[in-house]
Amino acid sequence: MKYISTRGEAPSLSFEDVVLTGLASDGGLYVPETLPKFSKEEIASWAGLEYRELALKIMTPFVANEIPEADLKNLIDKSYDSFRHEAIAPLVQTGHNEWILELFQGPTLAFKDFALQFLGHLLDYVLKKRDQKVVIMGATSGDTGSAAIEGCRDCENVDIFILHPYQRVSEVQRRQMTTVIEKNVHNIALEGNFDDCQNMVKASFADQSFLPEGRQLVAVNSINWARIMAQIVYYFYAGLALGAPHRAISFSVPTGNFGDIFAGYLANQMGLPIEQLVIATNSNDILHRCISDNDHSKKPLIHSLSPSMDIMVSSNFERMLFDLYGRDGAQIKKLMEDFKSGSMVLSDEALEKARELFSSYRLDDNETIDVIREVFEKTEYLLDPHTAIGVQAARETRRSSETPMVCLSTAHPAKFPEAVKQAGQTEDPALPHHMSDLFEREEAYEVIANDMEKVHGFIKSNINA
Ligand SMILES: *Cc1c(COP(=O)(O)O)cnc(C)c1O
Repeated sequence: MKYISTRGEAPSLSFEDVVLTGLASDGGLYVPETLPKFSKEEIASWAGLEYRELALKIMTPFVANEIPEADLKNLIDKSYDSFRHEAIAPLVQTGHNEWILELFQGPTLAFKDFALQFLGHLLDYVLKKRDQKVVIMGATSGDTGSAAIEGCRDCENVDIFILHPYQRVSEVQRRQMTTVIEKNVHNIALEGNFDDCQNMVKASFADQSFLPEGRQLVAVNSINWARIMAQIVYYFYAGLALGAPHRAISFSVPTGNFGDIFAGYLANQMGLPIEQLVIATNSNDILHRCISDNDHSKKPLIHSLSPSMDIMVSSNFERMLFDLYGRDGAQIKKLMEDFKSGSMVLSDEALEKARELFSSYRLDDNETIDVIREVFEKTEYLLDPHTAIGVQAARETRRSSETPMVCLSTAHPAKFPEAVKQAGQTEDPALPHHMSDLFEREEAYEVIANDMEKVHGFIKSNINA
């Protein structure tokens, strides 16, 4: 399968090259040239498949001709062996026709493990095949860094450098990164904020001359296509469990960069009947404003109790726009240029199309806390703050109570004790068993000034030969 850029001017690439590339050379994001489609009969025949078996069915067409099926199966099996729950993505009922899809059963307790466990094994496989070594560089405000480190800790051909803002991530989040003591894992605590970390990474991708010869940077943020691909699977998995393809399902998704919910959109395009996709945002509500008022303008970042959704610009939205504009790269290029200077306005036609499938809702911190408290009082089910936003957004925007509503639970509440405490819990939620000694483990990280030369110097002297 070939992959093309949303801005229409970069060369098309193979699957493996897309995984190693990140942004396209024209500034766009890569998407499949044609999306695989499954018939109703074919989807129906998957009822009862185990998560890994289903993942193989869904991912195969995306990598066909490049990765033999037996190898892909092996990568998938290894990726999900690290999950603590037999079902990988268990469903829990919390109301009439209302379900929680628990996506936090992976090693770092957030849904990002679904994609990053897979990406780690995939990179290891591709790089060994090509006899190539790469450097991963990423910025994190919390969840991405730990999931990426966990995913790549055993990759022999990868050195991973993750920048987090010094003293500005929670202790659980920091320790999940810094207690992975491997010679290819390098944690940098940058003396700055998350934006400084991100700018440092962006500038490094733009000019990679600081790297030793033969090395290139690889991106593990959600612009990496393999991450999106891996996330399509759980929409099918939950849908099949609740009666698809014979009935439609709705999903509510706590949204930041639009990667997770974009995978839901793709599942729908590939044949899964979806009635409604709810974009649930916190106070950083650019997507909610866009869908409800056609206001897609940048506003200052607000630090919320759901930090993994504290995002000013949702980069994967560009992939959605590409489809809404009939896959016309020139129009996307123009839109993104408009947006660069502050805001973009969608055409009536594009907005109408988006609203057929998507609804949106925004919750601030106080509302989020109220939801955690109320759901716990009624059901004794403890939501993390991101998931709480999804649950309430679903309730506020639901089109039909007869259609099952699945709220994606993107993190375990133990990752966000602050919000949980504010919702009236007197004790911190317990970390799962495999992490219960997290606070006793040895840590390793380097505090570095917000200075490009110092960071590059550290990277250069720590890359393994
Ligand atoms: C990353 C993350 C999100 C946002 O997902 P996107 O794909 O960026 O929209 C939501 N919740 C949690 C807990 C996350 O870690």
